[in-house]
Amino acid sequence: MCYTIPALVEEVRKGVATISYFGERKQAYCEFVKLSPGDYIYAQGGYVVEKISPAQAQKTLKAWKDVFFQLRKLDAESAALKANDNSSDLKLQRILEKARNSGKLSKAEALFLLRLKDPQAQFLLRRTANYLRQKFHNNSCCVHGILEISNICVRQCAYCGISAPSGPVRYRMSVGEIIAAAGEAVNKFGFKSLVLQSGEGCGYTVEELAEIVKKIRQRFPVLIFISFGEVGIPGLRKLYAAGARGLLLRFETSNPALYKKIHPGDTLDSRIKHLQAAYRMGYLIITGGLIGLPGSTEADSVNDINLAASLHAEMLSFGPFLPHPFTPLAKHPAPSEEAVLGVLALARIIFPAKTKILITTAYETLSPQARQNGLISGGNSIMINVTPLKYRSLYTIYPHRAHADQTVAQQVREALAMLKSFGRGPTDLGN
Ligand code: SAH
Repeated sequence: MCYTIPALVEEVRKGVATISYFGERKQAYCEFVKLSPGDYIYAQGGYVVEKISPAQAQKTLKAWKDVFFQLRKLDAESAALKANDNSSDLKLQRILEKARNSGKLSKAEALFLLRLKDPQAQFLLRRTANYLRQKFHNNSCCVHGILEISNICVRQCAYCGISAPSGPVRYRMSVGEIIAAAGEAVNKFGFKSLVLQSGEGCGYTVEELAEIVKKIRQRFPVLIFISFGEVGIPGLRKLYAAGARGLLLRFETSNPALYKKIHPGDTLDSRIKHLQAAYRMGYLIITGGLIGLPGSTEADSVNDINLAASLHAEMLSFGPFLPHPFTPLAKHPAPSEEAVLGVLALARIIFPAKTKILITTAYETLSPQARQNGLISGGNSIMINVTPLKYRSLYTIYPHRAHADQTVAQQVREALAMLKSFGRGPTDLGN
């Protein structure tokens, strides 16, 4: 089982390989692996992560060949626009047509879409997002693993259940436990990319975190994303040098006043400087924000999407704010599922081609139908939690997290069956 299918190397030039999936060409950096034409590889997020033997590749490709094209067909048929995807509301119809033709929406048009209240109109918005997702990304769905290595945190984010000073029983996985969990995710379950996440100031120094990244990279063919909060610009540099190639860091909200209010002692500017510096260093960027934060507006959500794009996000991570009983925002309600889907769909419409859109665990916690609904509203990425069960229940950023008590094997089985039923391939073929 794997989360990307093998590709054939056709050409290698200046550190970039031209690779082919059943004849479909892509490009991938090959700084981690020495390659020649004719080799078979696994790539993830635009990086070659592993070279495999031709025999192993042929076996997997043979198993995939028919399924690959069947899934694509199923997805293409269900995403294709039909007569009833048109609206009698002339304004809505005009904006959706513009979106379908990749026209750039004005802010007023984006707000109009986000403020739709009529269920049929909301449905048409999501259908448009799904159409664009299929048109530009085909049926691929990116599947990352996420390993929560520590719930220790020095920040006091007003929404977050692991923020200082109170919070859950604190844990920090040992280096041995982290390596073992990463190894199991890669070797047993076939993950090709892993997000290492923790609170900020998680009990390991940046140097120690860099050692951990290096050890994982030395042992396992996997693309590593870091998500340790603001580690400082020199910290980002050290972690990149250690082999991390992705950064998951949400800016949470694009509204600087709101940001300041809910992040005591911290500024939006500092967060953005980290994201900009990381992009310049070569990190793949995953960013986004919280939907429905108390005090935020729909106009903020439009700005959030635009900010994520200006930060060159290769993946957008927008999830609902969920009230945690031990935080200052405990009494505020979570947004509706419709509001979450509206943001995902609008994000896909504003950025049809380049970015993946994640169905977040927070959204899965809000709605049991999150993956099914999110994947047909512009989403094309999911994460599977590979944190050992004894720690997973302590990473309580919000209560009753989805998948909190499911083994990795159960989650993988469920996710693959669900993707297949939708005609999606668990394949990150890169952009
Ligand atoms: N220290 C890291 C990881 C933080 S936890 C960092 O700062 O990036 C990962 C994400 O969980 C946060 O970025 C935040 O958006 C989300 N989160 C925290 N509390 C939440 C809540 N109550 N509801 C929904 N999402 C929450």
